Amino acid sequence: MREAASPRVELADLRALSARIGSDPLLIQGAGGNTSLKADGILWIKASGTWLAHALERDIMVPVEIAPLLDAVSSVDPAAERAEQFTIPDLNPSGLRPSIETTVHALMPQRVVLHVHCVNTIALAVRTDCRSELATRLDGLNWALVRYARPGLPLALAIAEHSSTRPDVLVLANHGLVVAAETVDAAEALLNEVTQRLAAEPRSAPPANMEKLRALGVALKDVAFRLPESDTAHPVATDPASTEIAAHGSLYPDHVIFLGEGSAIARPGEDAQAVVARIGAAPVSIVFPGIGVLMREDATPSADAMARCLADVAARIPPGAPLRVLTAEEHLQLTDWDAEKYRQELARKAARKSA
Ligand SMILES: [Zn+2]
Repeated sequence: MREAASPRVELADLRALSARIGSDPLLIQGAGGNTSLKADGILWIKASGTWLAHALERDIMVPVEIAPLLDAVSSVDPAAERAEQFTIPDLNPSGLRPSIETTVHALMPQRVVLHVHCVNTIALAVRTDCRSELATRLDGLNWALVRYARPGLPLALAIAEHSSTRPDVLVLANHGLVVAAETVDAAEALLNEVTQRLAAEPRSAPPANMEKLRALGVALKDVAFRLPESDTAHPVATDPASTEIAAHGSLYPDHVIFLGEGSAIARPGEDAQAVVARIGAAPVSIVFPGIGVLMREDATPSADAMARCLADVAARIPPGAPLRVLTAEEHLQLTDWDAEKYRQELARKAARKSA
């Protein structure tokens, strides 16, 4: 039998796994998702605003004391949302702030927890009829479907409703996937198993019309638009079924955080200027049906990642599937919230640095 690895080795293994997961856009987009390890009463959790993809190049893991954090959660103390007060300064030289989803990780009993915004999972988790599909595909695994709740303490409490069955796989409605295990290797194996079982073939879509797109983005006085970082963002515009899905509204939290509420969809004959004039503000991205997607010039790398995510998710949802989108109240909970404002500010700073 293999000897138990020391926390230092395990943390190194987790960072390597985090970098692998973080560089797969079908699992993680931008600063989304997080990973953690529990060892010796300490929860090592990804820092807010950092990217899993950077796990090997820079310090992204913050040490948090588990016991006082769990006390705050069990007394539903809002302090639980500010996990930075439970960090261990001596082990946190970079002064990082723990992920918004730290309470989710702390409440899971397993030592290693991986939370990803897997597009195959999301494509199912936005459907009101997903339970039976999940039951078939996840048969034999200890899984639970968790009702939608805002990331942070509300989500942690929604997950805690399932604690009596100690699930290893959580499908978070309108959000993503959590897998948990006792070792880094076992967590990775479980993640691979679940993502394979939930995989769907994306609908193919015609290519974007680059010439038309460029013409639609020019002639703006105050605001400039540009092409997305990746051509993979366009199918939400060039595949009519995907455009229809995007038109329903916001499907998951990071869409709202980085692209705004719902999708700005141009009407026939509108260019970017006409869309901005109609909406009364410049959206982070504009979907031009049958043509392609434009991004506002100052869109952050996370916004580009979310534009691609929308195309990847929508292409995996069958036309006509019954969808649940975020409500007005749920939008407000996401945008009018200190922790989110901090994360958005970090994304803007990172964008300025990389510019
Ligand atoms: Zn999440």
